[in-house]
Amino acid sequence: MKLTKEQKAELETIYDLLQQGYEKVAETLNFSCEGCSDNCCDSWFKHHTLVEWLYFREGFEALSIERQQELQQRAQEYLQQAEQALQRGERPQIMCPLNEGGLCILYKYRFLVCRTHGVPAKMKRPDGRVLTFPGCFRCQNIVNNKYAMAGSNFAPRVNRTPMLIRLAKLEKNILYIKNIKIDKTIAEMILSSPENILTGGSYG
Ligand code: SF4
Ligand code: SF4
Repeated sequence: MKLTKEQKAELETIYDLLQQGYEKVAETLNFSCEGCSDNCCDSWFKHHTLVEWLYFREGFEALSIERQQELQQRAQEYLQQAEQALQRGERPQIMCPLNEGGLCILYKYRFLVCRTHGVPAKMKRPDGRVLTFPGCFRCQNIVNNKYAMAGSNFAPRVNRTPMLIRLAKLEKNILYIKNIKIDKTIAEMILSSPENILTGGSYG
């Protein structure tokens, strides 16, 4: 299964808008990832949309077979280590299988979380509840210093709501009437296929 040209264009527009929002806030805060000793690609994130998974698979499948196998091997190791950490009751902190030398090898196809982690953000849920995200530790330090007097509530935030509404619409359009919840790490998305979901096969 592949995304149509229109679905792909819509996802890329959503990503662009998120990027623009991110850059605007980063500029106001004078924040960048340059020289950061931390690398948040070792953060434990799950991804929740089929549309992003299909987009990612497009980039992954364009790699040579040898390269795909290499990444699948790394993804296996990632999952083993994650399982061990979870069994110890710890939140896994393992470098993403796609990160090489600090850089993402499928940068164009990276996920929403990879694009938005960093600066403060907010989003309004369908039930009206507003969720806020403080940004990464480095950015939180900047905010705490810059807004020490006024309070961090006065710091700029990316409003992700309009983009997430569009993403939810796009996802619905792809899933059509199926009610499927996706909750996978990148490693799991490397090792499994989204194909079965819409054809009614087993999920994974
Ligand atoms: S988002 Fe924050 S933690 Fe991650 S690399 Fe950038 S500055 Fe470092
Ligand atoms: S997909 Fe790329 S940007 Fe996202 S965590 Fe992995 S290496 Fe980092």
